[in-house]
Amino acid sequence: MSRIKTFPKGGIHPTDYKEATCNKEVQNASLTSTAIVPLSQHIGAPCECLVKKGDLVEEEQIIGKSGGFVSANIHSPVPGEVIEIKQIFLPNGMAVEAVVIEVKGEFKRLGKESLLHDWRVMTNEEISSKIAEMGIVGQGGATFPTHVKLTLPKGKSCETFIINAVECEPYLTSDHRVMLEKGSEVLEGIQIMQRLLSPLNTIIGIESNKMDAVTLLQSLIAEKGLDIEVIPLEVKYPQGAEKNLIKALTGNEVPSGKLPLEVGVINANVGTCLSVYEALVLNKPVIERIVTVSGGAIKNPSNLKARVGTSFRSLIEDCGGFSEEPVKVIAGGPMMGFAVYDLDTPVTKGTSGILALTAREIKASRPTSCLSCGRCVSSCPMGLNPTKIFKFIDFNMSDQALEAGLMDCVECGSCSFMCPAHIPLVQGFRGGKKIVRKNSMKKAGQ
Ligand code: SF4
Ligand code: SF4
Repeated sequence: MSRIKTFPKGGIHPTDYKEATCNKEVQNASLTSTAIVPLSQHIGAPCECLVKKGDLVEEEQIIGKSGGFVSANIHSPVPGEVIEIKQIFLPNGMAVEAVVIEVKGEFKRLGKESLLHDWRVMTNEEISSKIAEMGIVGQGGATFPTHVKLTLPKGKSCETFIINAVECEPYLTSDHRVMLEKGSEVLEGIQIMQRLLSPLNTIIGIESNKMDAVTLLQSLIAEKGLDIEVIPLEVKYPQGAEKNLIKALTGNEVPSGKLPLEVGVINANVGTCLSVYEALVLNKPVIERIVTVSGGAIKNPSNLKARVGTSFRSLIEDCGGFSEEPVKVIAGGPMMGFAVYDLDTPVTKGTSGILALTAREIKASRPTSCLSCGRCVSSCPMGLNPTKIFKFIDFNMSDQALEAGLMDCVECGSCSFMCPAHIPLVQGFRGGKKIVRKNSMKKAGQ
């Protein structure tokens, strides 16, 4: 029997805590009286604001127009009146403009049957521009605009189209629920993207702790006669990191500093496939997403379908509130997510989870000196030497940190997780990368 596939270097096995929500059907989150809609919810140029204070907007109206080639439209998640345009901070520390909308008027989609559209009669150009118009971005956390990813540069072709359904971050189960509850829709979204990419192979990679989803998708694929393979993967973090997944499924290594297309691969998250289906078949822009709300301090952990712009506070209230005061609230997963200090932070297209963790769940200890134990080195899936890079950053030796592979770090947090001295390695790498980018922008401006 062949061994279950995985990536070869490093990796860790944290407790996955998924049992709190993996068997819970997705529920609709409450609608709140205001929505705070950031005008940058993607990698790339922020949107140009199309509304001003006092304007009335319809549900699904474009309020932020794509601000460049790498950018994605933003639509109003609710009907209402623009009461303010203000600066807010996203969990990753980025300051962005946000449109505050007070809910008023009629919802045009909520509670109504959607008309189904046939994408098969559309040209590839029409499909591409619909994906762009609907503001679809990668929903696995990367938030890269999907229409850009699906536009192959001249002379390049996609050999393998990989659907990332790994969901290796502890606690998170939104992708798992999407596959179980919207399997047919996900597969149709994949078919739409297959039309644009004409890949030789299409593979859905799923960690083997979701065998119910593997079995379901395999049977739907057989029933519909689709050219898609489902491959279960070893449960090992970070199996879902793009380069690791490509290595595990194709055996190919994406060279340092290069994109997956270098080895003929395009990746899409399973939630993105659902958004593509909704855009083309339901004519629906990205105005909502499924969010896992979990952690030891949440009374009733759940998966909620929430409108973009809904506050974290409202989703936590939908889950019965806190059972105890959390020590930390995180946007995303515990390994790669960001600490949140304001519960009025809004859900964006990239919010996969909200976690409220107790002291029992996090290792909150003061950092001590490096013990030279090497655990960070053996856990790094990119084959880096985290302790060495951290020291270079600590001593302001950016060039040496770059040479040691700083930019190859995928910020998976495995090294920090394993470090017995509690050294905040990944935070150091994030800070180090910011300095490097600032320096290179300064150099370019000279
Ligand atoms: S955070 Fe970076 S350095 Fe640390 S294990 Fe992950 S890839 Fe390696
Ligand atoms: S795991 Fe921590 S203590 Fe061990 S070598 Fe790495 S940085 Fe030092």
